[in-house]
Amino acid sequence: MTRAILAAACALAALTGAARAQQRGIDVQNYHFSVILPDTGAMIRVNATISFRRDPGARDTLALDLVGMTVDSVVNPVTVESLRFAYDGRTLHVPIAREREQSLIVTYHGVARDGLVARRTARGLRSFFGDNWPNRARYWLATVDHPSDKAAVSWLIEAPPGWVVVANGRCAPVPRRPRSTSCVERVPIPVYTMVLGAAQMAVSRHRPVINARDTIPIEVWTYPEDSAFADGVPFRRATEILETLQRIVGPFAFEKLAHVESSTRYGAMENSSAIFYAEQAYVRRTMGEDVVRHETAHQWFGDAVTPRDWPHLWLSEGFASYFDLVAGAALGGDSVIASGMGRNRETYLRSEVVGRPIVDTAETDPNRLLNANAYQKGAWVLHMLRGLVGDSAFFSGVRDYYAAYRDSAVSSEQFQRMMERAAGQPLARFFRQWLYQPGYPQLDARWEVDTAHRRVTLRVRQVQPEAWGRFRIARVPVHLVSRGAVFARPDFTLDPAQDEQIVSFVLEVLPDEVRVDPEETLLLTATVRGPEPR
Ligand SMILES: [Zn+2]
Repeated sequence: MTRAILAAACALAALTGAARAQQRGIDVQNYHFSVILPDTGAMIRVNATISFRRDPGARDTLALDLVGMTVDSVVNPVTVESLRFAYDGRTLHVPIAREREQSLIVTYHGVARDGLVARRTARGLRSFFGDNWPNRARYWLATVDHPSDKAAVSWLIEAPPGWVVVANGRCAPVPRRPRSTSCVERVPIPVYTMVLGAAQMAVSRHRPVINARDTIPIEVWTYPEDSAFADGVPFRRATEILETLQRIVGPFAFEKLAHVESSTRYGAMENSSAIFYAEQAYVRRTMGEDVVRHETAHQWFGDAVTPRDWPHLWLSEGFASYFDLVAGAALGGDSVIASGMGRNRETYLRSEVVGRPIVDTAETDPNRLLNANAYQKGAWVLHMLRGLVGDSAFFSGVRDYYAAYRDSAVSSEQFQRMMERAAGQPLARFFRQWLYQPGYPQLDARWEVDTAHRRVTLRVRQVQPEAWGRFRIARVPVHLVSRGAVFARPDFTLDPAQDEQIVSFVLEVLPDEVRVDPEETLLLTATVRGPEPR
């Protein structure tokens, strides 16, 4: 997602994985939600069919997350038997059968306190928009609400007359039921991206993407007043962005891609195949293409390949932040990467989380993990990894990772192993220091010249806080400058074992200035001091 208008962090930590913790041996395969949106008010009626696999050792109760609804019934659709259930307003416990494959139908109603936002849009019309991240689906959808249990989803949505409805997957009106829309997403997706949007909206169809025999529709859904702006400015290259990411990473995973103006609390939210963007940036006409690239990149990273648990969030946000720039560079030149990484660096260095690691298992509130570590430092980890292993190994590793883990949930270690295989070298030190150590190297460098031996000596110390640990960097570039011109570009290996590292270069010309990583290829800071003037 894009964090532009992130609301105050909710104290949802205690809710994370409430049902998930009890679900060992249960794997949801498919959800079907039949939802009736009311003509007035906000009370919804939902019929949820949950199809799941049960391992032989699993418990004989299914625990579903569902908060604040009134449960009317739970039925076994095979025996048509009503099941006794226990519901405390947060978790629904239902006895399940011994069969490996089974389903339940849960019927419930109520006003969603969160997750499904019912309100007037910035243009004054009634609307319903799902906004589930990280674990707010449970306020309106009976689910195992955790990213590790992905599932396919289908929808049958009845909306007020004159409204249009969008949801995950391929959508179509239902014959002879003018208020109803059906949508089918066959690809397993995380519950936090299972959404519907419904309002009076304009829909414009951009040039579709053709993949062999598949046609992927590209749609822009807006409040009618914002349609021309959206088509002409932020989404002008929506099709090209998707095509570019396919070329770089691999085939798009879903049946269509809709870009939807909505009431999400985030700047934008990467719901699988139906991205929801915050309405304010449309109304103010401030929306640009970068948010579209970021969210489109999430369709690969976050949606198709999903972090298995919240501490691995950088696999979603760091990747979306970096591939936003990679796609931007492919469409508009390398300066997009240079300027974007410069902004990422500044944001990270100024942030309050430099003392925390990216994979922060001590932080239990996923909202607080939406920080400069997951986004900006995550993008830097990928950029430095690319610099370390080279473009060819980097992109083939990313492609292999996507191909191997598409439609599943992953950890940072799985990404590391794929990259080690592609690069043909161990990367344990790289990943350990950048993902599990906090901070970044702060270098203090002094240089002096030995005129007789035509030698420059650089004394380098790592002066970052001790708690961050020390760093190893295979190649730290150095520029040697004489009269304003760079005349040599040696490099050195930053060695964590030495308190003060001494590096010497023997040269024809002696420098009057030494610069350490002046092109900012690394996430470090360096203070460089020369000889005292005589
Ligand atoms: Zn994002």
